[in-house]
Amino acid sequence: MSVQAPEVRSVPGIGEGVWRDLVGQDDAVRTLSEAIADPRRMTHAWLLTGPPGSGRSNAARAFAAALECRQGGCGECRECRTTFDGSHADVQIVSTKGLTIQVREARDLALAAQSSPSVGRWRVIVIEDADRLTERAADALLKALEEPVPRTVWLLCAPSVEDVIVTIRSRSRHVRLRIPPVEAVAELLVRRDGVDVAMATYAARAAQSHIGIARRLARDEGARIRRRETLLLALSIRGLGDALKAAADLASIAEDESGASSGERNAQEKAKLLEQLGADTSARTQPPHVRSAINQLEKEQKTRATRFARDVVDRALIDLASMYRDAMVVRWGKPVDLVNADIVGEVEQLARALTPEQLLLALDAIATARERIAANVPPLLALEAMCIALELPL
Ligand SMILES: [Zn+2]
Repeated sequence: MSVQAPEVRSVPGIGEGVWRDLVGQDDAVRTLSEAIADPRRMTHAWLLTGPPGSGRSNAARAFAAALECRQGGCGECRECRTTFDGSHADVQIVSTKGLTIQVREARDLALAAQSSPSVGRWRVIVIEDADRLTERAADALLKALEEPVPRTVWLLCAPSVEDVIVTIRSRSRHVRLRIPPVEAVAELLVRRDGVDVAMATYAARAAQSHIGIARRLARDEGARIRRRETLLLALSIRGLGDALKAAADLASIAEDESGASSGERNAQEKAKLLEQLGADTSARTQPPHVRSAINQLEKEQKTRATRFARDVVDRALIDLASMYRDAMVVRWGKPVDLVNADIVGEVEQLARALTPEQLLLALDAIATARERIAANVPPLLALEAMCIALELPL
């Protein structure tokens, strides 16, 4: 019996086709496109990790598109386009609304993984937040990961390997994305979003290479103003009253941001649910099964809003920390680019007001607040404690 070696195809690589917008990730693109080109390098479960904003879910979609595409990821055909916009029949993209992925959802996915693709070459299941799988949900997936189905591929995304339950981790191949260089993010904003060069450079640097945030900063003046207000808080705290006010300001900046994005979406979801249940939307009271479905939806929306508001506060704290980091750079005269080069005067003012030890303590206070908020301490409380620690000497 002669075994024929599988054929190695020529497919789009770094900077081409579906990989075009995955900037600064040459190693990851090489690994993924090699798996598309050479069946011997393919496997049924992948774990894509990278810091927020590095393009994890974009990488997962690009890989899914390359799997479905007849040309291995041209970026133009129907398969590629529908995979990216989430409408491909054989590509299921799971983005978590809640804080966790529950066992019921995991069981549904494991079941879906059993069936062969309907129109495409592969059945692809993308879990964008594999770090949010509960232990029981992870257990429900294990069997599916242990006993691969011939044409099913799992793409799990998470910030780092440590965030994923170890049994899942050990059954998947790991591909690591890195923080892309500022220049690469700026170049992407110019090429893809038509942003001018100066704005793109400012946004990429201010966002510390987080692609989504850089894009928002470049396109939304409100976001730029909120960020600037957050940074300038560092110079405003000269007593207890200022500290409490600064904390309240930070909390309300976050509330503005999350409120703006959720109201309309919530209403749409409710209308869609009522429609699916065939409910009479003009009725004053709804039958019990409709009421309970609405309650469930509202609970999920509330959880999502909480999670989003926390993420926004966390982002504001990363911004604030960049101000102290820059002050440290100025203080030590290190030849490193400032994150906040656009307000260098204020950075220098902060550098003069605090000693290096005080700058370190300020960074510690911000890190502590982030940890507390992640551990479910009410944000305002954590922010007040932090702002009191950030008081400037008179
Ligand atoms: Zn294609």
